[in-house]
Amino acid sequence: MPSAKMVRIVRDLGATDEDLDRLRTIGDTLESDPTLPFRKTRTGRFGFDPVAMEVRRLEFQPFMLSTEDDFVRHDAGQVRIFDEIRDDLQLNTALQALFVFKFMVFDGMKVEQRPKLDYDSDRWVCTLLNVRTITDGNLIGEPALEGVHSDGVDHTMTTYLGSENMTEESAVTFLHEMDEVNGTRWHDTNPELVRARAQHREFLDTCLIVDHELKHSVSTLYAVDPDRPATRDLLAFLTRRPVAEDHHSHEFDSPAPHPTMPMAVPLRTLDETAPTG
Ligand code: FE
Repeated sequence: MPSAKMVRIVRDLGATDEDLDRLRTIGDTLESDPTLPFRKTRTGRFGFDPVAMEVRRLEFQPFMLSTEDDFVRHDAGQVRIFDEIRDDLQLNTALQALFVFKFMVFDGMKVEQRPKLDYDSDRWVCTLLNVRTITDGNLIGEPALEGVHSDGVDHTMTTYLGSENMTEESAVTFLHEMDEVNGTRWHDTNPELVRARAQHREFLDTCLIVDHELKHSVSTLYAVDPDRPATRDLLAFLTRRPVAEDHHSHEFDSPAPHPTMPMAVPLRTLDETAPTG
């Protein structure tokens, strides 16, 4: 979904111009990442509740992706503790509109089911990641160091916020058939298994992926001026059904609201929003 369309949609869903402006630079407040030196990340857990028709902030829980999620990396299976997303992002009306947009798209959609998720549940759990990838004199930034992978969820949405000093050919997203081997570097993949490529170039360029039907990879971040750091800022919304009891994230899947940073936003369906006549 290209930038111009997304800006129009989120404005229609309540985003103010001031908040759209603030969203562009929200990445400046990122501080650290638990396992990747070329990245700064904050995360927060949100719950889509189609019965109450709202999305709300959920309490903090550690994060884990494992090889069972089609995620092969040195920190796969490791419990990761990220800095928490704060009110400056979660109370931003543009961010809130992105949640509503995502729900409108995936609500009622039939997708290939993942093992060990509870598809009888009404609820959806969404981990929001605010990520800055950095390439500087010492480190090469890899938006997806893990190569070909899945995010271990049902619906992945990535929304581009901006970049500094990034070359035109940097950070291309490739979508691969499920037969592609996990962990393959983007430049070593089988061209016959590449279903599509896309590149986030403008503010709010957005990509939605059915995460258990196609795998993805992202190419390296290169600097135009090698003497200055290059950065690329992105929001990733990883949404899945709650996990079943035998899933590795079972102890990290609480539905409880966040005790100190509450947030709740009403959801809408496409039917409610469709133009009449
Ligand atoms: Fe991913």
